[in-house]
Amino acid sequence: MVHPTAESHDAIIIGAGFAGLYAVHALRNQQAKDVIAFDAAGDVGGTWYWNRYPGARVDIESVHYSYSFDEDLQQEWHWTERFPAQPEILRYLEHVADRFDLRRSIRFNTRITSLTWDDDESLWTATTDAGEVHVARWVISGAGTLSVPKKPEFGGIENFAGETYTTGNWPHHEVDFAGKRVGIIGVGSSGIQAVSEIAKQAGHLTVLQRTPNYATPIGNYATDPAEEAAEKADYAALREASRNHFLGVPYSDVQPSAVAATLDERREVFDDRWNRGGFRLFIDAYGDILFDHEANDTVAQYIRDRIHERVDDPATAELLAPRGYPYGTKRPPLETDYYEAFNRPDVDLVDVKSNPIEAVTEGGVRLADGTELAFDVLVLATGFDACTGPLLAMNVTGRRGRTLKEHWADGPQTYLGLMAAGFPNLFMITGPQSPSVLYNMPLAIEDHVDFSVAAISHVEEQGRAVIEPTPEAEQEWVAHTNELAQATLLPDSPTSWYMGKNVPGKPQRVLVYLGGAPTYRARCDEVVAAGYEGFAISDRHSDRAFA
Ligand code: NAP
Repeated sequence: MVHPTAESHDAIIIGAGFAGLYAVHALRNQQAKDVIAFDAAGDVGGTWYWNRYPGARVDIESVHYSYSFDEDLQQEWHWTERFPAQPEILRYLEHVADRFDLRRSIRFNTRITSLTWDDDESLWTATTDAGEVHVARWVISGAGTLSVPKKPEFGGIENFAGETYTTGNWPHHEVDFAGKRVGIIGVGSSGIQAVSEIAKQAGHLTVLQRTPNYATPIGNYATDPAEEAAEKADYAALREASRNHFLGVPYSDVQPSAVAATLDERREVFDDRWNRGGFRLFIDAYGDILFDHEANDTVAQYIRDRIHERVDDPATAELLAPRGYPYGTKRPPLETDYYEAFNRPDVDLVDVKSNPIEAVTEGGVRLADGTELAFDVLVLATGFDACTGPLLAMNVTGRRGRTLKEHWADGPQTYLGLMAAGFPNLFMITGPQSPSVLYNMPLAIEDHVDFSVAAISHVEEQGRAVIEPTPEAEQEWVAHTNELAQATLLPDSPTSWYMGKNVPGKPQRVLVYLGGAPTYRARCDEVVAAGYEGFAISDRHSDRAFA
């Protein structure tokens, strides 16, 4: 039964980042739906609201990592850098919110605490931490993929007498590192970006590294007016090329095989991609790097050699050089002067793989062998409960009282990475088992929101009320995504969050679709063309769909 004080809407939207903002625009401004959106943050921005740590910067060129849905917006907005820093991306999202008048539909500082499907009414009920109850036929979740920081395995953080910061939940005030002994735990994309900046500011910086990473230069530069004009002259073609690329960027220089190339040819290609920056070495060098160990070894060795060239002390260089897992099986970080930071006399590297962190203490960090490291400031760059974490955190209950937690007990189960069987009318933007983080996010988000809005229209045009994947379609999709992952080297990484391996106890199943954005988009088009193949569309009281 619907809660007596509930506010009723056509759709509930979760999040006010790239996904939530576009969903509000698409449903409210373009489809005239009554929507309400929620975000735990105090304003728009999503990931770019929370991740304010020093050095936070996008690592897909913003000319590509931006909305494509409005020609005037993409023509008029000017990025000052090729890979802008967090404040500029946040300003862009604030501008989008103003330009399309989105804020009036968003409740900020409000977290969804439960989301429950009513089988009789075919409605979702959302409760918030403000004690409000909202009811809607449709839910679009833009809760994000990397929005729930992982709880570190070690204890004692509450005992630390100094200042503690988490990269994924950074305060709004300026953090003063001057003259302080700073310890940073974690060398993923966040830690690596932060190290380069904090090293310049801290009295002394100690980097606690467990698994060294294959970081490569981002290659940032101030926007070149001629390049910007050329790109804007035919933005539509640029977007089309992006959408037809595995990663959603219009790169076009990938060569078929590193193994088939000679040593000299490889060196030339690797040097070129390294110097041009971005994800070119990862995705625009050789097509077999993610699939073939021998091919992967060539680029892994190239990166190790480059690290040794950049780091003065050979022992430190060797500790920073990744070994024992293939390049690209953990998300490759992009850096600016990261390796050079270790040439500073006031920066130390500590190996916490051979000597793990045992606990945070009042004065700093204690390692397994009893070593005590003293800090004034501790920075946690220890990552996220990726992809499934944000959805599970909302306490979702679907048909017949079955929770999403139960449904995903062995890992995520979705159809197209967008919906789950038994959870009708709930669209998970860039959900688990979709290309999401392996596709340029704003474009992945637009594709998913467009698909969801079209599906809602399709259902309503038929005078129906409910859409959900069939269990069979879901099972096939899960099997397909697992099969794709097995054909790559991804399962070989011991700690990758792509596989759910970074969080102790998390089921280990691939969290991303590895067939590439173009194949995925073609599959979505086929599904629609075949009359929403794999989905059951029904009336209210739609247990009939499975009767
Ligand atoms: P991450 O890649 O998961 O890295 C977490 C780091 O913390 C790893 O080095 C990990 O070591 C370490 N760690 C975790 N628990 C530890 C423990 N108990 N003891 C010692 N070390 C521990 O997380 P992230 O750096 O926040 O990045 C997550 C994702 O966010 C990225 O992959 C990327 O997709 C996205 N991101 C993007 C950007 C960008 O676009 N510019 C920037 C930042 C982040 P192990 O590897 O040994 O587990």
